[in-house]
Amino acid sequence: MPTGYLKDGTKIIPPSMLGVKMAEKTKKKISEAHIKSGLTPPSRLGTKRADMIGSKNIFWKGGKMKDYPILFQIRLSIDYSLWRQSVFSRDNWKCQKYGIVGGVLHAHHIKNFRQFPELRFAIDNGITLSTKAHREFHKIYGKEDNTIEQMEEFLCQQ
Ligand SMILES: [Zn+2]
Repeated sequence: MPTGYLKDGTKIIPPSMLGVKMAEKTKKKISEAHIKSGLTPPSRLGTKRADMIGSKNIFWKGGKMKDYPILFQIRLSIDYSLWRQSVFSRDNWKCQKYGIVGGVLHAHHIKNFRQFPELRFAIDNGITLSTKAHREFHKIYGKEDNTIEQMEEFLCQQ
């Protein structure tokens, strides 16, 4: 079952799983698997995220959201989260480079986020990559002036 966590600890849940209650046994199994695989940082074991509670949660009305840089705000927005889920879902929760399903997935912007504001929420401009593939892509091509051609080249490389 494809689940995972983003760098910031956000849990990735496929749309088909939303609203589905898991059996306690399953939950425990998954939690154990996450701990084993290192998906749960040791610092978070058995703790609630202090930064997500009440007034400390930046989504809290009257919170400090407005103080964050605009690009960061967009990345935390509902629209952005929907965009990411749509990209994952279209790609069947599979890294398009290595074919890994689930785990920690990244929705990469084919034409980069900063320079192409009009494509930030275009599903066609997104592609699902594993952490490894995502890191490799930006290492080779950088984070500016990214193109479809670069992505095609990257996906074809062995
Ligand atoms: Zn990227």
